[in-house]
Amino acid sequence: MARTPDEYISSLGDGREVWYRGVRVSSIADHPVLSIAARHLSKIYAMGDRLYHDSELGSISKYYKIPRGSEDLLERHRMIYRHTYECNGIFNIGQAIGSDALFALMIVSKKIDAKYRTNYYERVINYYKYIVKNDLSIAVAQTDVKGDRSKRPHEQRDPDLYVRVVDVRSDGIVVRGAKAHTTQAAVSDEIIVIPTRAMTPKDSDYAVAFAIPANTKGLRMIVRPIDEVEGNSSAVLSRKDYELETLTIFDNVFVPWDRVFMFREHEYAGLLANLFATYHRFTAVSYRSAMANLYLGAASLAAKANGVFEAPHIRSRIIEIILWKEIMRMGAIASAVNPVIDEDIAIPNPLYTNIAKLYSNTNFSKVLEALVDIVGGIVSTLPSEEDLKGELGDLIAKYLAGAVDGKERIAILKIAKELAGSSLAGYALGLMIHAEGSAEASRIGLAREYNLSEAEELVKRILGNT
Ligand SMILES: Cc1cc2nc3c(=O)[nH]c(=O)nc-3n(C[C@H](O)[C@H](O)[C@H](O)COP(=O)(O)OP(=O)(O)OC[C@H]3O[C@@H](n4cnc5c(N)ncnc54)[C@H](O)[C@@H]3O)c2cc1C
Repeated sequence: MARTPDEYISSLGDGREVWYRGVRVSSIADHPVLSIAARHLSKIYAMGDRLYHDSELGSISKYYKIPRGSEDLLERHRMIYRHTYECNGIFNIGQAIGSDALFALMIVSKKIDAKYRTNYYERVINYYKYIVKNDLSIAVAQTDVKGDRSKRPHEQRDPDLYVRVVDVRSDGIVVRGAKAHTTQAAVSDEIIVIPTRAMTPKDSDYAVAFAIPANTKGLRMIVRPIDEVEGNSSAVLSRKDYELETLTIFDNVFVPWDRVFMFREHEYAGLLANLFATYHRFTAVSYRSAMANLYLGAASLAAKANGVFEAPHIRSRIIEIILWKEIMRMGAIASAVNPVIDEDIAIPNPLYTNIAKLYSNTNFSKVLEALVDIVGGIVSTLPSEEDLKGELGDLIAKYLAGAVDGKERIAILKIAKELAGSSLAGYALGLMIHAEGSAEASRIGLAREYNLSEAEELVKRILGNT
């Protein structure tokens, strides 16, 4: 049954353990700051184009439509783009990341079953049907806190620095550890947990995948919103839409067997981690190309308000932002048009996905630089909201006029400052470099996929070596 935004919001009062600024949050839906993230997620339930008719499951969310070919992937890309745009340029992860993980789990569980005669695929499909029928939202906790990055999970001084199995019971397993940066976990219905890297036989206890409801006993979530709007009266965008990041602690959490999707099959941990990453990077370049409209729109409007839109160096700056937006979008489309089919499921082309994601990682700083350059020093020094609205407001507007009047220019400067000269800008930089896998992870993915023989053959032919 398709849920409404209100049904989703009222389901959040389920006793989940959420902490913010050292205090346990009694009701996240009523919290003055954190509720922005819940309302943001709820918008997914109001999207008119979200549902489709599945012959077995009825009217269900398109996010959970299993991609069978290019058309499905293209539609997924377009929907993520549209929904990001509808949410004021902020990604709505609510059903996107969970479906990315489910598709990867469907493929990998079949392979584990074929080797070990396990029944993981059946468990994944049963869980999938439960999610789809109840129209639930899912966060994915993949990134472990990882401790000393040069060491494998079993080599860490504290064995809990990667999530691991600490007890095996007849009815399920008990896990302990912590995952970092779990976007929207505190306002999601469910959390899917998967490994973050390839594992060796000695890491078997860490080769575990499972799903739990967000109110599971022992699950402790310490949250940080994208932008802490308390005291930030100038925030425009962050008062409308943002997401929460969570340090997700699994304090001896029980998981029943029917929700365990990998249990010590260490040789499949890397495949699951990479497959999820491919789906999720395709999601990333889809939402990021829509998010780029924030920077492009602010840059273009600020250039016009400053009267410099026609200047050649300003046009070059605007083109830098257009490149960032459209190269990501082209990457998503190329990935969808050239999928890899595995176990009858379409995977976005890993090479094109990683190329687009790497471009996104390494060029966002140029986007910020372009916006700062166009807007001018006022991106750092704009008077506060209280001053703009206060006794001297008209005087300030008189002196902040540009090619348009002061009030109109100030409105543009406010969002430009939020995007390029505030804590949100710092958050976005971290997001663009690390979220959905760091730049180095995209480089590793790209190098793994890239076949150099075509290029080598050409040079060998010229050298007369073939
Ligand atoms: C805004 C945001 C949202 C996110 N959302 C989610 C989410 O919903 N779910 C989720 O699971 N994750 C999420 N992530 C996590 C994201 O995937 C990671 O941040 C990313 O994979 C980098 O991992 P890390 O943060 O632990 O950094 P690190 O791995 O510590 O990386 C720091 C640097 O160390 C390098 N490094 C790390 N290990 C090694 C090594 N062994 N050898 C050499 N160099 C190394 C890296 O390449 C990098 O340059 C999110 C991150 C951000 C910023």
